[in-house]
Amino acid sequence: MQPPPPQDATAVEHLLALDRAHAWHPYTSTIDRDPVYPVRRAHGCELELMDGRRLIDGMASWWCVIHGYDHPALNQAARDQLEQMAHVMFGGLTHAPAIGLVERLVRITPAPLRQVFLCDSGSVAVEVAMKMALQYQQAIGEHRRVRFLSLRSGYHGDTFHAMSVCDPVTGMHQLFNQVLPRQFFAQAPAPRFGEPCSDADIADFQRLIESHRDEIAAVILEPIVQGAGGMRFYSADYLQRIRALCDAHGVLLIADEIATGFGRTGRLFACEHAGISPDIMTLGKALTGGYLTSAATLATEQVAHAISSAEPGVFMHGPTFMGNPLACAIANASIDLLLEANAGPDTDIRPSISTSGPGWQTNIARIERALAAGLAPCRDLPGVADVRVLGAIGVVEIEEPVAMRAIQGRFIERGVWVRPFGRLVYLMPPFIISDDALRWLTAAVVDVLAEPSRI
Ligand code: PMP
Repeated sequence: MQPPPPQDATAVEHLLALDRAHAWHPYTSTIDRDPVYPVRRAHGCELELMDGRRLIDGMASWWCVIHGYDHPALNQAARDQLEQMAHVMFGGLTHAPAIGLVERLVRITPAPLRQVFLCDSGSVAVEVAMKMALQYQQAIGEHRRVRFLSLRSGYHGDTFHAMSVCDPVTGMHQLFNQVLPRQFFAQAPAPRFGEPCSDADIADFQRLIESHRDEIAAVILEPIVQGAGGMRFYSADYLQRIRALCDAHGVLLIADEIATGFGRTGRLFACEHAGISPDIMTLGKALTGGYLTSAATLATEQVAHAISSAEPGVFMHGPTFMGNPLACAIANASIDLLLEANAGPDTDIRPSISTSGPGWQTNIARIERALAAGLAPCRDLPGVADVRVLGAIGVVEIEEPVAMRAIQGRFIERGVWVRPFGRLVYLMPPFIISDDALRWLTAAVVDVLAEPSRI
């Protein structure tokens, strides 16, 4: 099938005028508007703008599009499911797509996680996880345990309870600090990934959990990779010590794997780097390969059983779109595709997207090597503070915040979609990205950061 011709400039301008008039984009002003680029279609690892320009995608639409856009297997799953039903309520009804999904999630996540609550977005999955922790502590008679311990530089979403456990100082939610529930925050996790954790590194966390043991329902953290709060990769050892401290003090551990889940860090779930299992885990983003909004909160039998055995005997949450059959069917196809070793590189030829390929871990290792090699020259650039790579995540941290509008335009000129944030320029491409595309993408980052006027 031929792609449609570039859209006529007047029609595009009209669309953009409507966007400027009425669309409120994430974290933006409606007065001083950031430029937005109209996409006509997305295929494989490419975004095609309405003026015909094609961009290699370095963002996977914020961690989720792991198999690339427009994947035949996911498209087929969506079409097949549409023939059956797009949506039915999950209260009192069930269906094969949701059952297939909960079975898969229980099978692939750490063994103690046995019960799955499906919901509709990452932030909601976090709210659900926090409510589960609160209900659990109430159920076992720990009525004073109503607060959460989290880590600085963390990020867990934009809804109210989720905001309350995002870093209150460097985070994006200071505006609401007055009304957010008060939580505890330990120093940002250290040391870096691959290094051992000393007593001094864990001291702040240990002090907080010990001094507030009677008040803390759960610890919530992003395992191994802190995403939106700083793209920091920390020690597996540190995570192990947190698990041990939670156990010692009757505190639940919530692992927010919304960004890290489904292979992004080189393990299926980032907890596996530390060999630990949380009491509650949140998933989202790549769950449906980026096709539809869906998320899940998993709990151990112990948590689920305690909640279900105490008054009122039910878990108090029930989103309208939980278990949406279309989302579940696509999620099932996405998980199967990932695990069936079909996540190899795109050959850039439409019909042959990942019909065969190396196992997903080999593939992530390939991306990791390419990101490390491609971004290495950034280390020698003035103003670059750090370059780090883990799995299919590459980060260049710079000393001063970037001038977003200017830098975005320069990436577009080089034919790539990269969206820096604060002092971070980062890449998290779809897993099907080819080696050539990775070279192009990383070279664009090096070139743009080498320009003296970048800031
Ligand atoms: N937790 C983490 C770790 C995230 O990265 C995000 C999204 N960036 C969320 C929660 C919130 O997910 P959503 O945007 O789907 O609500």
